[in-house]
Amino acid sequence: MQVLKFGGTSVGNAERIRQLVLIVAAERARDPHVVVVVSAMAGVTNMLLGAVQAAVGGNVAAIDHAHAELRRRHLETLAQVVASDAEHQALQAQLDALLERFARIGEGIALVGELPPRAQDFIAGLGERLSARLVAAALRADGIPAVAFDADQLIVTDDMFGSATPDLAATALAARECLRPVLETGQIPVVTGFIGATPEGIPTTLGRGGSDYSAGILGAALEADGVVIWTDADGFMTADPRLVPTAQVLSEISYAEAGELAYYGAKVLHPKTLLPLIPKGIPLYVKNSFRPDSPGTCVSATTGDWQADVKSVTSIKGLALITVAGRGMLGVPGIAAKTFAAVAAAGVNVLLISQSSSENNLCFMIEGADAEKTRAALVKALAVEFHQGCVERVDAHQPVAIVAVVGAGMRGRPGIAARIFSAVATANVNVIAIAQGSSEINISFVVAEGEAAAAVTAIHERFELGAMTSA
Ligand code: ASP
Ligand code: MG
Repeated sequence: MQVLKFGGTSVGNAERIRQLVLIVAAERARDPHVVVVVSAMAGVTNMLLGAVQAAVGGNVAAIDHAHAELRRRHLETLAQVVASDAEHQALQAQLDALLERFARIGEGIALVGELPPRAQDFIAGLGERLSARLVAAALRADGIPAVAFDADQLIVTDDMFGSATPDLAATALAARECLRPVLETGQIPVVTGFIGATPEGIPTTLGRGGSDYSAGILGAALEADGVVIWTDADGFMTADPRLVPTAQVLSEISYAEAGELAYYGAKVLHPKTLLPLIPKGIPLYVKNSFRPDSPGTCVSATTGDWQADVKSVTSIKGLALITVAGRGMLGVPGIAAKTFAAVAAAGVNVLLISQSSSENNLCFMIEGADAEKTRAALVKALAVEFHQGCVERVDAHQPVAIVAVVGAGMRGRPGIAARIFSAVATANVNVIAIAQGSSEINISFVVAEGEAAAAVTAIHERFELGAMTSA
């Protein structure tokens, strides 16, 4: 059994959906048991959320406009992928019913001027409900028996709207009970990505870009032989090909390496996707739906036969470096604890932490947009320390970027860091802070945003990643 997940661009128009049908037909010929997971058509989630956010400010016209635009796009695509009149009518009625709910809720939001988190999640996930129905219809039109499923019947989550956490045990029960009988009759379930529901049945979402995560969750629940992420990139690469033209596709990487790369800016995969798959050892493949014959990347428990120490270098831009400094911090316990408690209370995610051993400076990286609120929260939380003089300043430095160098072969091999930083120095890039995870498969450092590309290119060259071939 395979789970095949198709992202927004891979279901973005009738032509892309026809390509999806070809891919599913080919996969099904190899293994008749296939579950399809889909994202909303490209741009739809943003449009839905943009419209309700405008509605909160009283702009009802934004809802009408989005309603008309979404209706036009989905019905136009429907007409292009479905031939039979009966199917067309039935589908149009289903899509219209969903779009009508969007309009009603949107008007309600404009009226009360408030967007409760659960209403926002329901709206955010509507694009997947529309695309799953369209895709199932397109498969049927091609003679492949398929049936659309809303994942709120399948993926059980907590009630953290906007970024819910799945209950994997409850999900396994629900998904098996619901989907196995369908699979046994030879039909293909087409499941909405991105959404789940609380045990009470209130729809939630798994966080932006969460359809990949849905595929991982369902793959684990159904004990799939593999999960394939069909996207618009060739797979995990040695670097972002827009920055480094000689970047190559990595044919095999480990879960740990993929996790680091997803976390540090490779936009190929939602970072949580692998979590449910790792304990079961289920492999994940990333493949390009525009070029289905290219091999893509296989992510599994092994690192592959690569001889390389370093495999990939990525960067994340748009970040801020927060520094808490003071000569009096030396030997004063609890400042780090207070700092990170305040950051957590402000709901801010920390991407990297570094402290010098002289202890008079603690710094960490966050999203640039969070810089001001984080700085303000720290000034407040450390008021006593400021007063006592042990903390002298809290600074936000931006824009900065993290450059992350990843490879399981770096573990226990001396001299890698020296090579990395000599390459960076040769490129004349100044390193602001450095961190290495104790897993030793990732060395990351902070540079001015404008210098990130030069650092990435220099490292890619120094380790000859463009010339790497699998053994
Ligand atoms: N449609 C959702 C989003 O845009 C989920 C996804 O595409 O993975 O965030
Ligand atoms: Mg995506």
